[in-house]
Formats: sequence, C-alpha cells, structure tokens
Amino acid sequence: TPKPKSAAAPAATASYQHKTVYVPVDRTPEVQAARLRLPILAEEQQVMELINEHPIVIVAGETGSGKTTQLPQFLYEAGYAQHKMIGITEPRRVAAIAMSKRVAHEMNLPSSEVSYLIRFEGNVTPATRIKFMTDGVLLKEIETDFLLSKYSVIVLDEAHERSVYTDILVGLLSRIVPLRHKRSNPLKLIIMSATLRVSDFTENTRLFKVPPPLIKVEARQYPVTIHFQKHTPDDYMAEAYRKTLKIHAQLPEGGILIFVTGQLEVNQLVRKLRRAFPCQQQDNKPGQQSNVQPEQEPETEQEFDMKRSIRNMRKSKKKFLHQISLPKINLDDYKLPGDDTEADMHEAHEDNDDNEDEEDEDDLEELQQLTAPTTKQPLWVLPLYSLLSSEKQQRIFQPVPDGCRLCVVATNVAETSLTIPHIKYVVDTGRQKTRLYDKLTGVSAFVVTHTSKASADQRAGRAGRVSAGHCYRLYSSAVYNDIFPDFSQPDIQQKPVDDLMLQMRCMGIDRVVHFPFPSPPDQLQLVAAEQRLSVLGALEPRTEGNTPPVVTQLGRVISRFPVAPRFGKMLALSNQQQLLPYSVCLVAALSVQELLVETGVQRDEDVAPVSNKFHQRRMSWAASGNYRLLGDPMVLLRAVGAAEYAGSQGKLASFCEANGLRSKAMNEVRKLRVQLTNEINLNVCDVELCVDPQLKPPSDAQARFLRQILLAGMGDHVARKVPLDEIGDKEERRRLKYAYNCADMEQPAFMHSSSVLKQTPPDWIIYQEVYELQHGDTQKMFIRGITAIEPEWLLIYVPMLCNIREVREEPAPRYDSAKGIIYCYVNATFGKAGWELPLGEV
Ligand code: ADP
Ligand code: MG
Repeated sequence: TPKPKSAAAPAATASYQHKTVYVPVDRTPEVQAARLRLPILAEEQQVMELINEHPIVIVAGETGSGKTTQLPQFLYEAGYAQHKMIGITEPRRVAAIAMSKRVAHEMNLPSSEVSYLIRFEGNVTPATRIKFMTDGVLLKEIETDFLLSKYSVIVLDEAHERSVYTDILVGLLSRIVPLRHKRSNPLKLIIMSATLRVSDFTENTRLFKVPPPLIKVEARQYPVTIHFQKHTPDDYMAEAYRKTLKIHAQLPEGGILIFVTGQLEVNQLVRKLRRAFPCQQQDNKPGQQSNVQPEQEPETEQEFDMKRSIRNMRKSKKKFLHQISLPKINLDDYKLPGDDTEADMHEAHEDNDDNEDEEDEDDLEELQQLTAPTTKQPLWVLPLYSLLSSEKQQRIFQPVPDGCRLCVVATNVAETSLTIPHIKYVVDTGRQKTRLYDKLTGVSAFVVTHTSKASADQRAGRAGRVSAGHCYRLYSSAVYNDIFPDFSQPDIQQKPVDDLMLQMRCMGIDRVVHFPFPSPPDQLQLVAAEQRLSVLGALEPRTEGNTPPVVTQLGRVISRFPVAPRFGKMLALSNQQQLLPYSVCLVAALSVQELLVETGVQRDEDVAPVSNKFHQRRMSWAASGNYRLLGDPMVLLRAVGAAEYAGSQGKLASFCEANGLRSKAMNEVRKLRVQLTNEINLNVCDVELCVDPQLKPPSDAQARFLRQILLAGMGDHVARKVPLDEIGDKEERRRLKYAYNCADMEQPAFMHSSSVLKQTPPDWIIYQEVYELQHGDTQKMFIRGITAIEPEWLLIYVPMLCNIREVREEPAPRYDSAKGIIYCYVNATFGKAGWELPLGEV
C-alpha cells in the first residue's frame, strides 16, 4: 500500500474528524463480485481513514480503478449521507448521468436517492443522498448557498480535465471548507483526478495553506506496446479505418477502441465498419443524429447550454424559431457594375460543411473498395460520444454477441470519463476537438488539434486493462515528441481574461484578482481587464474604498454574448433600429484577421493613398456621408455583402481575388456570422434579441448609429488629430499631416495609408488597432480600422473616461418627467490628456 503523504499534513484536529456510522448497503452478489475486482476496494480503509481525519484530500488513480463509482459508496457506508448529501461534480454531462445510474444500480437504491442534476435536467428528490452533478450546477448552487449547507462532502471528480468551472470550484471550496470548519459544521472536500499533474493542487500554497494529503490508488496495468506510424497522414479518418480493418483481419481476439474527434466522425466510421463487417443484431444506424450542428460536440456544461437551447427551441417552436441560418443578403443591393443581372443561383452556396462531409464519405467509400475485408468475422461496432442517449451508451457495458469482436468508436469521452471493458487494441488518431478562443475578440470555435502527450498516454492505457495490449498511433514518433504538448493547458488560461473576469464577477466572485486559482491567469492582465470592463460600463467604477466594482445590468447582458465584452456591448446596444444584423456582420468581419489584402506598398503614412484598383473599390464601398464616416468598418461590411452576393453566383474565389479580399478569411467571416446569429437567436433570447434575416446595406442613419455603437465598444481607442494650425514649421506640419494623439500614448500615431478616411482625416476618430513599425532608425506607431466620431458622443457613450469640470446653469437643466431624469449641460474633458469636449448634456 502506498503511504499517503500524510506526514506533511497537520495533525488532525477533533472537529475535522468524522465519526463513522456504518450504514449497510444491500448489493447483489454479481455487483459485489465485480466491485471486489476494482483496485480501489483494496484501499478502502486507507482512503477512508485519510478522509475522515482531514478536511481536504486528493485521490489520484488510474482511469478505471473505481474512483467515481466506489468512493461515493464508501462515503455513504461511512455515514456521510445520514444528515446531509454527498455531492459529486463531473465536468462532462455524460459522466454525471452514467455514473449516477451505475452507482444506484450497484447500491440497489432508486434514482430518487442516487440522483443526478445537470442544467435543465435531473432526477433529484428531497430523498436524494448521493447527488451527481455537473460542475456548472454546483457553481450555481454556491451563488445561492455559499456554504453549501446541504452537503457533508463534495467530491470534485476528473479534476485533471481542468475545466474552467472545476478550477473555479477548487478555488471557492478552498475557502468554503475552513468557513464551515469554523462553524463546527465541517464539509469535506475530495479532489479526484487521474494521475496527471496533481502538483497544481498539492503544491499551490495560495490555494491550500497546508498541502492536502494525496493518496494514489495503484491500478493493475498490463503492458501496452506502442506502435507509431512512419508518417503522419493528413486523412486520419481513412487511416483509422484502414488500421481497424487490419487489426480485425490479422490480430487475435480482443476489443478495439478508436479515438476520433467528434460525433460526426464517430457516426461516419461506425457506418463504414458496420457495412464492412455486418453483425446480424445490429441495425445500420449509429446513434441518432441529433439536430445540433454536427461539427461541435458539446461536452461540458458551458458548451452544452447553447446546444440545449437550440433543441428546446426547435421543439417548442417559439417565435425565435425562424430558420436559423445566415442572415440573408438582399442580393440586388450588392450588385456590382458589370455583374450578371440574374440572381438565380441563391442556393448555390448552401451549407458548406455538409458538402465537406459528403466528400469525406466518398473518400471512405473508395477506400472501402480498395481494401476489401479479408475476414468474415462480424464486428460489434458501437458509437460513444457525449450526446448519445444513455441507454445507447450503456451498450458498451453489455455482453458482446457470440462470435463478434467488440469495436467502439469514441470521442475523448472514453479517455478518462468512461471505461470500456475488454479493450485490447487502441487506435489513436492523435486528434481532438478543442475550443479555441481568439484572445482579442473572444470568439471561440471548435478546432481539430493534436492531443497532448498526457492524453495520448491515457488513450494508450485503455488497452492494458484486461491483458497486455497494443496501441496504434496514427502519427509518427517525431510528431509526438516535437509537436504534442506535454499537457493540455488548463481552460482557464486559454480563456481571454476580459471574459473570465466578467463571468466570475457575474457569479458573484468579487475579488477575481486575488482569487485562489489552481493555475492563475496573469495578475496584471486581470487588473487591466477590470479597468477595461469599467470603461465599457460592464462594472460600476471603482469607488474610493477598496470595495470591488459591482456588475451592472449592462454587464450581465454583455456576459451572455459569446464574444469579447467590447463586442458584446456593441451587440447589446444593437437591439434597436434593426442594427443587430449589421453588428453581427461587423463583429464577424472585425474578428477575422486580414480580411482585406494590404493595399499600401509599404505601411508608410507618407505614401499617398494607394491608387490601385483595390483601393478604388474600397473608396466606392465607403461612398459618402455616414458611410464614409463609418470608414474602414464600412468597407468590411460592404465587402462581406458583395462577396456573399458573388458567392451566391458561385464566384466567391474570383471575386475575392479581383477585389483584394482573402477568400479563406471570407469563409471564416461567413461561418462566424452563422455562429453568432445562432447563438444570439438562441442564447440571448430571454433578453429578446432577435436577428433579422434580411440584410440590406444600412441606411445612412443606420450607418451613423453604427458609428456610435462602434464607439461604445471601442471607447478606450479614441484618438484626436494633432492640431496642425498650432505648428509653425512647414516641414513639421507635413510630417504630422496624418498624426493622431491617442488617449493613453505619448507619441502620436499615424493613420494607415489604406484607410478610406485618409483623404479627409477627421478630427476625432476611433481605431481598431494600433501597432508599431520600424521606420528608418526609429519606431513609428500606426493606427488602422478608422471610424470618424463626433466629440459630443463621448459624454454619452464613454462617460467613464470623461471628467465633468462644471455643471452649467446656462443653458438651463431640463427635467424629463417621463423618465424622471434631469439633464444638465456640462463642461467636460476626455481622458488623461484632458481633451476639451464641446458643451454636452448629461
Ligand atoms: P475511475 O473513476 O477510477 O476511472 P470508474 O469508477 O469510473 O473508475 O469505473 C470502475 C469500473 O466500473 C470500470 O472498470 C468500468 O468498466 C466499470 N463500470 C462503470 N460503469 C459501468 C456500467 N454502467 N456498467 C458496467 N460496468 C461499469
Ligand atoms: Mg472516474
């Protein structure tokens, strides 16, 4: 038995100690026999002694050793469920449901006593003793009952997955446990993890002053032979199919487990394999295709919410249920001179992703003919992914029909959350789907990436549970060594800090900067994020005392948009004047890097506006009036519209080339618009935002509103033209012709030569981006993505950065009786530099 590190732990004090009251459980002999084979059973006494005597314990053990199913039973039998509940959190919804069912079955208790609760669904009753839930659900409970008074013990399962919610829970519970202790109402915390990187929890003294004891459950692991591929194929799906055929045809009996990235791939491969090696008892339909967008497989509570709303909305046919698709462009509005007048190819650019899928299928079809099966032995092929119904998931635990070989095609659910019996061969594509955030925009997307070394080793380990096994890695050892990261980064460090800050503040966590994160994000960045959020109006400004600013109503609305807060605010303010479709399009276009091909030969302010045809086209898109004043974002808006129109004619690529757009970026904009439109339609529906599917170019008045909306989101990017008439020297005047003072920079920055506003540089602007370039032997700052604003707007849209110097008596204040607000005229300045603002009303 490994000795727990309890030597380092403090001597147990009496009030931590739990008095064991033995509560009998009536299990069937079969269950009892199966339990006895689990490694953790041999360690029950040590584990429970440690838990009984310490407030916080870390239990690490190989996947499949029995942590999730057995520990709750140990706790129950020791009397932890007598007066209060045993709560277990899972980052994955599938695990919460499956494990509650399994434990209820093993303990011979009804689901009213061993229950689960996930967002929108559950079977918890007042009689519930053991409660499995997602980490998101427990976080919500903490908002209303900070001390978690209904629980005697909280088990954070799968802590190695490092979901944002689990990390936040670890931090919160590190404070709740001592508080409960002080009140002589102790709460135990058990952190369970695969044997990965537990040091983040044990060696973080900010988190736990005294390192909690760690107990390792040793599991019997048979040797697994790893086979690398010589080369790493691009088409890992075809390779996975080929490899499975080979294993099935040539290798002795034993189940095969194949890791792919998502539900779509699972179903695709299951179909192919079933066709190749039909099994009488099996129909040909893998798990029910759910209606959700196939390329995104939500696994965690966070990701699930949107999917859930989509399905609920489809079911309930509410008013938001108009077809969820790209807002339609009114094509005629985007016709360009010389374009064909017939717009009869509307459907030409239907759902791109579906087509890609079809192609994949064809590839596999072809492959299937090339590699005709050389064995007739049927294959019992089962899919496994989160959204599969739990009855269908249960089939992996049921006996395989006689004469068949088991083959499970799974996402990384099978990596640690669910253990499949009888696996001897693992086929690992080495890929997974990850949610990647754009740091700048906060927009996230699911992308297929390489797994980490730790994940790859977990996957391999699945082959050694019953006997010696083999793992076929469909990539080379060089790729594994050089490209795979050691561990995947904790989600909390990937999430943009502004989002994280706002989200945690909305949860009621006040001192985010000092929050005991297991892996803290950069402190300075957190402080800056808090300031940015105050400027946006998402947080009340910081007051004199040290009380942290409160989340505003606007902040709560912003937090519901799946984009960076500054874009969230733009979207939130757009729920008027039919502006939302434009803001969606703008946010999408601004989120994609380098949509427009650079027109300047060099990024030098002295070069006159480049008079090439790209620039001409951009000037024509920017037109005049408020269109022109909206500036470079207007160009983006029109470019997207025109490209969509060309796309509907099947000419997207040539249009992009002829007009200086990157077609790859354009496709990304299109995807983002669909994603944002969907999410707004669904996720934000209870603030009644709704996307108008028609999208004509904005009217002149709308373009003016869009300038104000951009300002509302970019209030920290205001710049003012360097006043030239105060400069006597002619040469100096020429040098500073396009120079702007930015609110918080000493050196002036120069308007980029590609800006459509360069011909008539406005006095007040906002910019999207500032960057530095080597210019001769000095550094020079440039700004781009320019929009003209009116200084009068600053008091209304960026009040946080305005200083009111004087409330005027003249013109007289007026009282709006309908709103109960008094408006006064004020003299004010803007920003640190104290720029004088025109007389304005507040
Ligand atoms: P850990 O949490 O340590 O990874 P688990 O407690 O999840 O381990 O699983 C222990 C064992 O219980 C595994 O070998 C698994 O095969 C088995 N098991 C889990 N759920 C079921 C089920 N629904 N039916 C049959 N066996 C199951
Ligand atoms: Mg487990």
